[in-house]
Amino acid sequence: MKKIIIKVGTGVLTRESDGQLDGASLVKLVTAIADISDQGYQVVLVSSGAVGAGISGLGLKEYPADVPTRQACAAVGQTRLMHAYENLFRNFGVSVAQLLLTADDFNDAERSSRVRDTLAKLSEMGNIIPIINENDSVAVEEISVGDNDMLSSRVATLLDADMLVLMSTIDGLISPETNEVVREIEDIEAVLNYARADRGKFSIGGMATKLQAVKRTVDAGIETVIMNGTRPDRLAAVVAGDGVCSRFKTQ
Ligand code: GLU
Repeated sequence: MKKIIIKVGTGVLTRESDGQLDGASLVKLVTAIADISDQGYQVVLVSSGAVGAGISGLGLKEYPADVPTRQACAAVGQTRLMHAYENLFRNFGVSVAQLLLTADDFNDAERSSRVRDTLAKLSEMGNIIPIINENDSVAVEEISVGDNDMLSSRVATLLDADMLVLMSTIDGLISPETNEVVREIEDIEAVLNYARADRGKFSIGGMATKLQAVKRTVDAGIETVIMNGTRPDRLAAVVAGDGVCSRFKTQ
């Protein structure tokens, strides 16, 4: 059974206008994930959106600058997020399971093997989608993995996954020459240098850090793709090796 780790970013899950969880987007996403799970892929979801959902849930106007407020937002938002996933996946007869992790859960051999065992057991039980996020209410600075691109990379390597799918709000890496999605990337170093040197030419800021997570995963021998999470109807094709996305091949 092919193991696919799917990371979905806050931009896909929340509405830009008011930061609320985007119900329509979630329905499409859950439908696509339930579909590939039904086809026999083993899926683990790494979902952001807790802080975002908490900000709107608490009626805050902007992203909080201080750590305790961010942690409070995550605590409020994480339950909203899981509530939404649970309700939607139930329509497909699928249960969800929550794991909130910190860097220690990967760095400590005993803890990481427990995480791996738990995920293996959930998979064995069947019809369960594990949903992982950083434990944002406790993980700050040195015990934090950082961002969810890196968290999903660590999950992918821990589980020795077959593929990591990073769902963002862009179709993939856009070539500045052709303005089209670069479908296959063989030389990640060249792209990395390019992203560092000339950030503005890629569609979103933060692409350089995303590519660090891609590189880490590809170096571990796991094919990684960047695709548009607002078009999850493309997921089935993407996991089958086709579809609109940027695909980073392993050597
Ligand atoms: N863990 C954060 C959240 O759920 C997101 C971090 C990230 O997207 O990189 O809001």
